[in-house]
Amino acid sequence: MSEKLSAREVAKMYRDYVNPDLARMMRITGLGTIEERAQGSYVWDSEGEEYLDMAGGYGVFCVGHSHPHVVEAVTRQLQKMALSAKVFFTEGQALLAKKLAELTPGDLRYTFFCNSGTEAVEGALKIARLATGRTTFVAMHNAFHGKSTGGLAVSGRPNYRTPFEPLMPEVRHIPFGDLQALEEAIDETVSAVIVEPVQGEGGIHVAPPDYLPRMRELCDRHGALLIADEVQTGFGRTGKMFAVNHWNVCPDILVLAKALSGGVIPIGAIVGTPKVWAAFKGRPTIHTSTFGGSPIACAAGLATLEVYEREDLCRKAEESGRYLKGRLEELAAQFPDLVREVRGIGLLLGLEAVKEEYAGSIIAEMSRRHVIAVYTLNQPKVIRFEPALGISRRDLDLCLEALQASLTKTREMFATQPTP
Ligand code: PLP
Repeated sequence: MSEKLSAREVAKMYRDYVNPDLARMMRITGLGTIEERAQGSYVWDSEGEEYLDMAGGYGVFCVGHSHPHVVEAVTRQLQKMALSAKVFFTEGQALLAKKLAELTPGDLRYTFFCNSGTEAVEGALKIARLATGRTTFVAMHNAFHGKSTGGLAVSGRPNYRTPFEPLMPEVRHIPFGDLQALEEAIDETVSAVIVEPVQGEGGIHVAPPDYLPRMRELCDRHGALLIADEVQTGFGRTGKMFAVNHWNVCPDILVLAKALSGGVIPIGAIVGTPKVWAAFKGRPTIHTSTFGGSPIACAAGLATLEVYEREDLCRKAEESGRYLKGRLEELAAQFPDLVREVRGIGLLLGLEAVKEEYAGSIIAEMSRRHVIAVYTLNQPKVIRFEPALGISRRDLDLCLEALQASLTKTREMFATQPTP
């Protein structure tokens, strides 16, 4: 690229060559400028303006943007070999799979690498079908498992699903957290139950205390597999390495992506038990991916997991999450006319506005104050807070100041009153 384009020119090119409605939507949310570089918890636009990133790429930037240790590992690997020749062993893939076997709970051991969350969900559904010889799935209302057709089939938002129906048949959708509904839906035809331990895009809903342990028992009783989708909750986001650890539940298949490669190279991963991986016996290439497990993605993954150890990121997420949640609850108490509830765990927090337009206004006001906040995809009333796990107290306080000012401004604009 020879010359620097203005934000207006890039917006026009989005309108003419990318997606006109997307261009308009981006302008309305208040961030109609061009991202240029990023470091830690901050993004700078092409005018040099600084933004505090409280959305964290929807769960990608757990170690922050452009972590130097990950960038260095990827740069080093890039100079040797970027993508796999696909005929040799890849050392990084072996090492990363071994590391994941050590970190994941129970007897989860084998890893299939791919390139995104939805691709990992697709693979998990296919492997579950192979391993059980069954074709029915149980999935949750409001769930988000990605936008490929298999991911959509087990996702729960009609807006995204309906235009593509008929999707994969034999999916039973039940309310999240409802054990009775699960008992009724699960039987000897079910291949797997797929669940997010904390529904992220569904509006930050944490599984009730006995939900996942009972789900595990019911799956075992009926010979169904349990697939935990930790694409967003994995890698310390909830204050533990994996969210299932909060309930001491071990799934048969763990689906991972986003944070695993430090936000530097795309990655996805499916981790399964030896019992599940028996599905590959005699047909090791029944499911494959050209780019999955590439030397650069695996170098990024290994370096990222080193950062977790060095910087004690799970503990930091737990501590910062507790602080941020407490302060968000104080603001919710001051603005009951605008805020219905604060929910979440670790640094996966959601603030549910009383109305969708209030959430839109708060987000736009925060953008004006150079704090990046976004709503959850299936529930636009909920503003999510999922910053880098190592975010400083100062940056959390900056976000809270901007939020308080944005709530005040939104109250003025909609002329709402706190109820006495
Ligand atoms: N699963 C969950 C729980 C997610 O939150 C997401 C994305 O937000 C996905 C799957 C899809 O991931 P991707 O956008 O990488 O395909």
